[in-house]
Amino acid sequence: MSKKWVYLFEEGNASMRDLLGGKGSGLAEMTSLGLPVPPGFTCTTEACLAYLGNNNQLPGGLWEQVLEGMEVLNKKMGRRFADPSDPLLVSVRSGAKFSMPGMMDTILNLGLNDQTVTIVAAKAGDRFAWDSYRRLVQMFGDVVLGVHSSRFEEIIKSVKAEEGVKNDTDVSPAGWQKAVKQFEDLIAKEGEREFPQDPWEQLKLAIEAVFKSWNGKRAIDYRNATNIPHNLGTAVNIQCMVFGNVGEDSGSGVAFTRNPANGENDFYGEYLFNAQGEDVVSGARTPTEVHKLKEEAPEAFNKLMEVSSILEKHYQDMQDMEFTIENGILYMLQTRNGKRTAAAAVKIAVDMVEEGLITKEQAVSRIEAFQIDQLMHPRFDDAVRKAATRLAKGLNASPGAAVGQVYLDADTAEKMAKEEGKKVILVRPETTPDDVHGMLASKGILTQHGGATSHAAVVARQLGIPCVAGCEDIKIDLAKRQFTVAGHVIKEGDTVSLDGSTGEVFLGALATVSPSFADQPYLNTILKWADEIRRLQVWANADDPEQARRARSYGAQGIGLCRTEHMFLGDRTEKFQEAILAETDEEFQRVLDEVLLPLQREDFYGIFKEMDGLPVIIRLLDPPLHEFMPSALELTREVALLEGAGKTNTPEYAEKTHLLSVVTDLSEFNPMLGLRGCRLGITMPGLNKMQVRAIFEAACDAAKEGIKVSPEVMIPLTSHVNELKHIQPLLEEVAKAVMSEKGIEIEYKFGTMIEIPRACLTADEIAGVAQFFSFGTNDLTQMTFGISRDDAERKFLLRYADEGDLNILPKNPFQTLDERGVGQLLFMGVERGRKTRPDLEVGICGEHGGDPESIEICHRAGLNYVSCSPFRVPVARLAAAHAAIKNKGH
Ligand code: ADP
Ligand code: MG
Ligand code: MG
Repeated sequence: MSKKWVYLFEEGNASMRDLLGGKGSGLAEMTSLGLPVPPGFTCTTEACLAYLGNNNQLPGGLWEQVLEGMEVLNKKMGRRFADPSDPLLVSVRSGAKFSMPGMMDTILNLGLNDQTVTIVAAKAGDRFAWDSYRRLVQMFGDVVLGVHSSRFEEIIKSVKAEEGVKNDTDVSPAGWQKAVKQFEDLIAKEGEREFPQDPWEQLKLAIEAVFKSWNGKRAIDYRNATNIPHNLGTAVNIQCMVFGNVGEDSGSGVAFTRNPANGENDFYGEYLFNAQGEDVVSGARTPTEVHKLKEEAPEAFNKLMEVSSILEKHYQDMQDMEFTIENGILYMLQTRNGKRTAAAAVKIAVDMVEEGLITKEQAVSRIEAFQIDQLMHPRFDDAVRKAATRLAKGLNASPGAAVGQVYLDADTAEKMAKEEGKKVILVRPETTPDDVHGMLASKGILTQHGGATSHAAVVARQLGIPCVAGCEDIKIDLAKRQFTVAGHVIKEGDTVSLDGSTGEVFLGALATVSPSFADQPYLNTILKWADEIRRLQVWANADDPEQARRARSYGAQGIGLCRTEHMFLGDRTEKFQEAILAETDEEFQRVLDEVLLPLQREDFYGIFKEMDGLPVIIRLLDPPLHEFMPSALELTREVALLEGAGKTNTPEYAEKTHLLSVVTDLSEFNPMLGLRGCRLGITMPGLNKMQVRAIFEAACDAAKEGIKVSPEVMIPLTSHVNELKHIQPLLEEVAKAVMSEKGIEIEYKFGTMIEIPRACLTADEIAGVAQFFSFGTNDLTQMTFGISRDDAERKFLLRYADEGDLNILPKNPFQTLDERGVGQLLFMGVERGRKTRPDLEVGICGEHGGDPESIEICHRAGLNYVSCSPFRVPVARLAAAHAAIKNKGH
């Protein structure tokens, strides 16, 4: 007996997504809930994979099982597929595990042909029959036989022009009949073959086309962009047709159980009378708000509300539903967890906890890290908005602010973004699945037609791209490559600003502001729940009081890395150079004591004050000294210019040549592996001693004012325990001296950064001296891979990793911790360090501390905290909770 490739809807359920796809498992689940679903069956994703893996041959037994399935449908419906006198019609619908909006196409009304269309016409009316048939030929020609959809649109346009009508619904039956003839001729000429008249052949070809579409360009692009694996395959659903195009008491619609844009708990959707399939989302006719159905079709509306509430309770999540009403009777054609904006996601999750529908943990699990990012994204400032020139207002289809240059087709948009590095606003009459690559490359999307559930809106919401849809005020002229609006002519390349949250379009580039974190109650509730769940603490990397304040306002529980070198940049560089250039030890010490010490003390004091009560890790000077000096190249050029002008006797010349000799002296072949970190501190102890003095003077001063301080002094770049044994006691002596001068004792720690592989290997020794570890995974990754990050990204790393053409590394290891390699060193470092010192405090302060996947690794490694940039703190709080949920019991 051959494998089971086909499942009737009544044989499946919601847990079978892998096998039946999202759509198939949803149809099965609704069927078992007793909801009104037209009968059907699903060919499994395994069948698709078997087909694709076998040179596009249907696997043995599949066709026979399809025939059996059709026999079941025939019996249920009391008419037979391919019966010339009264044919049963079906739809053939793709459906992968993850919903891929519009990526793979559905064929409706399958089973009609030139002959049976006339029989249907006699029974159910001319208009209905010919409208249904033309849809079949059109969709079949496009999806199965490879004739571009625009070719059919051209014919429809000319038929409408001939009849002098605007809407598809106004085309006469004779008009559609004519269109069908022209479609068939077109297909015969340009298609892979003629339109098949045999319904069984239609069915077989359609199933194969769905299987093949899994490997189509659109589908592959979309999966790449959204990280959906390529090896899942798609299922095919074959379902008896119900008809929304049989007259004015029929229609088709889409609805959400809650508002997917803002999360409000009200039913939301759109409906088109006398319409079939994708009419409602195609943007061709502007649909009616779904609540209007209450008056127009009260029974169906009430039923829809009932079904909607059953489904939301059953799935415990907001549902996105597709339905058709045939002669006043409701049929459900799809349900799935609805895509939503980040703002809606947090509101819905919090509301559902309050409604008792889900637990806090479920709520936290449902929010994705990138959504937190989105909520922190920039918006237009209100004052700026008021002063700006508003061009138009459309639908607020996907929130956020976008500024960029206008381009009018997807290919150009993609090209301008990728090749010219432009910020692009894609402007289209409406979008289709063929435009997705251009949408992905754009900062914002503006469409002239289409509603809140149009293709542009749905895809933009999912991708988190701001979108204004259905902006009928703009008149696009593709031939002239421009659009006109409110007396302005906007040409390709001109700059506009879109506000996807309000639907407004502005002239020129508007300034943006970051949203206030505190004013987002739902986000803060979710993060508060995340805090209750997570075990990892979240600290922040902050170099000045301003950053420290921001970090704290975002929920940071400490400063994991304060880089002191940043305090010597900008207008302070000159002062630091003074120290480097000092001719004598006394002069050097004088600059340290009189110039640099007060500056550092002030910085540290400000940070302690902001972080009152929380730990602050301050790293001693880390980079090589040449980073604070002008470049040798620049100096050489200046010296040569002075020489050329005969100015070798000037004080300027003397100064430049001296500088050049110092810089040449400092230069190294490989500064990354050179005189930096604790090596610098050991060879020039005055610098570090000054820093420690500044830290403790500031801490003691603050403590005296009642601020609770806990400084932790971090010694960078340790490779051998003897380095610490040498420097740490010297520095601790300074700390003690300051405390006794100030007459106050404070709590403090001395520890080290772990960023050299040898330090991980000998962490047991190092922990004998260091009271805490902080993994500097940027350097650790560089040194473990032997790759210099900044050079490599420019030269080869982007080709190596992620979507690079060489495909050597699955991910850029500087973004996501390389668990297999660098991760081993991390685990080893923690384990060996804690063997010596069980209460060793361990954290991570590299860029990875803000990356959700890396945070999960840190959780498993048993770190105390991750430290990341202030803006990443909210993301890290959520990711740490996700890690705890995922690794429950560990
Ligand atoms: P997509 O994955 O693009 O949403 P679907 O398979 O859901 O494609 O089909 C699109 C639309 O076609 C549905 O929303 C529905 O309106 C219509 N449709 C599909 N199957 C049927 C059917 N059996 N009867 C009536 N309409 C159908
Ligand atoms: Mg679709
Ligand atoms: Mg659908």
